[in-house]
Amino acid sequence: MLKDSDRIFQNIYGIKGDDLETARSIGDWKDTKDILAKGRDWVIEEVKTSGLRGRGGAGFGTGLKWSFMPKEGDRPQFLVINADEGEPGTCKDREILRNEPHKLIEGALIAGFAMGAHASYIYIRGEFYHEAVALQKAIDEAYAAGLLGEEACGSGWKMDVYVHRGMGAYVCGEEGALIQSLEGKKGQPRLKPPFPAGVGLYGCPTTVNNVESIAVVPTICRRGGEWFGALGKPNNTGTKLMCVSGHVNNPCTFEEEMGVPLKEMIEKHCGGVVGGWDNLLGIIPGGCSVPVMTKEMCDVATMDYDNLREHGSGLGTAAVIVMNKQTDIIYAIARLSKFYAHESCGQCTPCREGTGWISRMMDRMVIGNATIEEIDMLENVTRQIEGNTICALGDAAAWPIQGLIRHFRPLIEQRIADYQAAKNAAA
Ligand code: SF4
Repeated sequence: MLKDSDRIFQNIYGIKGDDLETARSIGDWKDTKDILAKGRDWVIEEVKTSGLRGRGGAGFGTGLKWSFMPKEGDRPQFLVINADEGEPGTCKDREILRNEPHKLIEGALIAGFAMGAHASYIYIRGEFYHEAVALQKAIDEAYAAGLLGEEACGSGWKMDVYVHRGMGAYVCGEEGALIQSLEGKKGQPRLKPPFPAGVGLYGCPTTVNNVESIAVVPTICRRGGEWFGALGKPNNTGTKLMCVSGHVNNPCTFEEEMGVPLKEMIEKHCGGVVGGWDNLLGIIPGGCSVPVMTKEMCDVATMDYDNLREHGSGLGTAAVIVMNKQTDIIYAIARLSKFYAHESCGQCTPCREGTGWISRMMDRMVIGNATIEEIDMLENVTRQIEGNTICALGDAAAWPIQGLIRHFRPLIEQRIADYQAAKNAAA
């Protein structure tokens, strides 16, 4: 369990305020000029040493991603920060945006400097009105204090940070779609290659990072990559904001060490499962895009990329959705299917057609109006989508269904049998 002294987000509930003075009192903007004076390569090496993996879901090495940016060239380079937190169940970045915005802005300066960017765009989902206001206020404070602008922190590095509000499309959280949207185009994912580090925003080298990934960078630079790397487990280092929702007594967002046991975490921070741990049906551990895990898996799972993958699921955004035995899990997954069908951008046929197909089949599964063979057909449809689309939304639509069928098939079969029995009785 994480010690208070290792906590990066000291004000995640906003109890102390969100202004610059408060931010400085908890260590933000401390010696930023000295960090920049150590040079680009030093910052990138420190982030690589920390083992930080992208906190937006994919878990790609952050330092490694930055090193893909060209060292020199005649095109401007951009840092784009993905604050389009739209995944059902995920509510961690919004706490940073509204309560600790200065961590993100300082991170934007240091990360932008490390990758040779003089401009950073924070793409925030449109529904986050209050967060956008808090963020803009913090940016204005930073400019007024000389922390951003021509001579950011007196370092000689020019850095501008802009807030761009999206319009609420989930797919704009995908980096290619986000860049398209930022350019004023329809928010649709781009084919890769080329990757954004080569051809990104306005055709220039760009790195897109999640809010949390950037917000932890100043602390990593101040306390050292080795400090961060010593927390958690090998290959799954550091601390992470976790957000737990659903059937727990105290749904909340908190910072924990990577690799914390799932059960212990829920009991310590969330007051346990409603009805007790034995009343647990299943947990989706990483936002709604990853497969559900059974109680037996949750008994032993730990919150890190590798362990959850071994359980056939994933850490994703560490948005833990808890479902107890009073949940109609077929309905719950059907609801997710509806979401993906609605949010598909329609570029790829397997996703455009398949997500709608899945959703309609799931609607019938909820009431049992299906045949046993259709369960296999449903799974087959998800396999036709998975891996055959431009972006990961197709996979995200497929995996929850696959998890449901893998672990809860008897429930679906029972639902179909009950429906048939009721129909026969009525006849
Ligand atoms: Fe659009 Fe879906 Fe294809 Fe992604 S997978 S590009 S959301 S159609």
